[in-house]
Amino acid sequence: MYGKVKDELAATLQEIRDAGLYKQERELTSPQSAHVTTTQTQALNFCANNYLGLADDPGIVEAAKVGLDEWGFGMASVRFICGTQTPHRRLEQRLSEFLGTEDTILYSSCFDANGGFFEVLFDAEDAIISDELNHASIIDGVRLSKAQRFRYRNADMADLRRQLEAARDCRRVVIATDGVFSMDGSYAPLPQICDLAEEYGAMVFVDDSHAVGFVGEGGRGTPELFGVQDRVDVVTGTLGKALGGASGGYTSSHREVVELLRQRSRPYLFSNSVAPAVVTGSLAALDLIAASHDKRDRLRRNTELFTDLMTDAGFDLLPGTHPIRPVMFPGDDGARRATEIADHMLKAGVYVIAFSYPVVPKGKARIRVQLSAAHTESDIRACVEAFAAARDAVG
Ligand SMILES: *Cc1c(COP(=O)(O)O)cnc(C)c1O
Repeated sequence: MYGKVKDELAATLQEIRDAGLYKQERELTSPQSAHVTTTQTQALNFCANNYLGLADDPGIVEAAKVGLDEWGFGMASVRFICGTQTPHRRLEQRLSEFLGTEDTILYSSCFDANGGFFEVLFDAEDAIISDELNHASIIDGVRLSKAQRFRYRNADMADLRRQLEAARDCRRVVIATDGVFSMDGSYAPLPQICDLAEEYGAMVFVDDSHAVGFVGEGGRGTPELFGVQDRVDVVTGTLGKALGGASGGYTSSHREVVELLRQRSRPYLFSNSVAPAVVTGSLAALDLIAASHDKRDRLRRNTELFTDLMTDAGFDLLPGTHPIRPVMFPGDDGARRATEIADHMLKAGVYVIAFSYPVVPKGKARIRVQLSAAHTESDIRACVEAFAAARDAVG
């Protein structure tokens, strides 16, 4: 019986609204792209994870259509029963080649890859040492395991060392980090993490969702950027951002790790296979990324241009080279200003998102801009002009 639960839920929803935390979804009436239309307006999109602009790439759409024709719509099965087709195997092999790992296992999402990892490898006598800013899916994955949990301050290597000391007597130890922290656009200090891991005999786990496809010379992500591909034990990532943006995720690692995940990882064993068209489309995305620097170069130039123009216009950006570029609005009324500026910009046809406490620390409100290879120079200039106009209007 629903009964008084109805009133309780209504009260909770009102609390969310009163706290200014209610999330309104803007409905797109177009494909995902640099230029989108919503039910309200046309907008330049600066808040998608569409880093390489592949979400509506004609070659990838075509590859997905071929996948539909050749392999059907859906698998109606988990992988180990009858949900594995040749393209699923091919994509796992292609990801392993691309990332320089021994083997790869696909999941329906990176959320599932992270959710299904820790429990399989780490038990009560083991330790997981996690960066405090790690993605929710790592946090949930860690919660599902019986391992002892340790947390270190974001990218703080002295604190990581303290936690490694505290975990010294554990059987297995893993350091888990995002490759890129998505609120700041900052990189995890992987060389130092790998040094400490070697000193203490720990494994290294990196979730590279905000890097795979475009960070590093070949787009292989943060381990490539830092030259530590051979020192990172486990990489997870998503197909839902730069690699076409559809859906799906993976864990790529040593042979035995992947083999054991196929036997024991619950989201893999108990959730449907990735749809064939998504697999063939993602294969085409990987081919495109491996064959050419063009989109990566374009993304880097766009990021530099945006940073330069915004800095010249007097805005305060967090330092960094990642296409996540946070524009900061510090102080007590920063949250209000960031929200009003973002609202103002949307009315002017530029879609950006403001983040404030509790998503980011108090006093560190920001508008997170995400650049894409699909943006043109004039798109970026229009975005910067909209920022300046909104600042003038809001004060
Ligand atoms: C986006 C993201 C995920 C989730 O990926 P999905 O494939 O959409 O589930 C996981 N981890 C990190 C760090 C992410 O940025």
